[in-house]
Amino acid sequence: MAKLIDGKLISAQIRAELKEETKAFIAATGVTPKLTVILVGEDPASQVYVRNKGRACEEVGFAAEQITLPATTTQEELDALIDRLNADKTVHGILVQLPLPKGLSEERVLLRISPEKDVDAFHPYNVGRMVAGQITYLPCTPAGVMELIKRSGISVAGKDCVVIGRSNIVGKPMAHLLMQANGTVTVCHSRTKELAEHTRRADILVAAIGKADFVTADMVKPGAVVIDVGINRNAEGKLTGDVDFASVEPIASYITPVPGGVGPMTIAMLMKNTLTAAKRAVEGEI
Ligand code: NAD
Repeated sequence: MAKLIDGKLISAQIRAELKEETKAFIAATGVTPKLTVILVGEDPASQVYVRNKGRACEEVGFAAEQITLPATTTQEELDALIDRLNADKTVHGILVQLPLPKGLSEERVLLRISPEKDVDAFHPYNVGRMVAGQITYLPCTPAGVMELIKRSGISVAGKDCVVIGRSNIVGKPMAHLLMQANGTVTVCHSRTKELAEHTRRADILVAAIGKADFVTADMVKPGAVVIDVGINRNAEGKLTGDVDFASVEPIASYITPVPGGVGPMTIAMLMKNTLTAAKRAVEGEI
């Protein structure tokens, strides 16, 4: 039986630490960290994510602003809003909720946000810094996975790590962070041949695929640490990860549940980046 890595508990600990740090920061500087989230259109899932981010800000003592724009917003209007927020000294973090409605370019938006306020860490400048090991902000989901691993007392150094998925927001940065923690990393994806031969070698297996219950026990080495990033709805409409929890849990050493594993860590890391952004802004002004 695997030990459960409780992301809900660990993220609550991190938010409590950030709350204390924020209190001290505000007392010392008189500056309240502020995150502005832009939501374009009315995607129901995005509305929930944005609301949760606002709540998390309030919990740790940040100012939170939500700007909702209609789906008919033009690229120029969105650019102008980002420019205004880039110039606003009271705003420390800017996040444009993805996906954007058709007709708007995510690439252009991600380039437009000032790298200093890019708390999602999606700007190519921050991606480059991460790859070079010169870290300012880390992308929230993979950074959350690293925290789960660290706070569970699991060492990555020298371990065989296999990441399934190569997206810009999860798979690729995940592989870099594991490599920087001295893991030996293999990245698998939709074109990988004999996937299970790779995954069965993993001491640490991270699944970021987007396919319900894809990773089954025969793909996992007994005693492996299994991290499930996936968030899917199964045939019954139940929230489920990329890992078939029922079959994998008995053979893994550690496993993250879905929900309550990686999910809550993403917002905690966003809060961490926002506090870092506020600290950097204050330091820049001294
Ligand atoms: P994505 O669709 O951009 O990427 C999926 C990756 O899986 C691709 O790189 C693809 O090559 C790989 N893949 C697809 N089919 C495969 C197969 N048959 N075999 C091997 N690899 C295959 O998705 P994403 O944005 O990286 O997200 C992945 C999952 O993580 C989704 O379920 C998403 O909802 C979830 N997610 C969770 C959080 C969180 O906070 N917990 C954050 C982001 C994404």
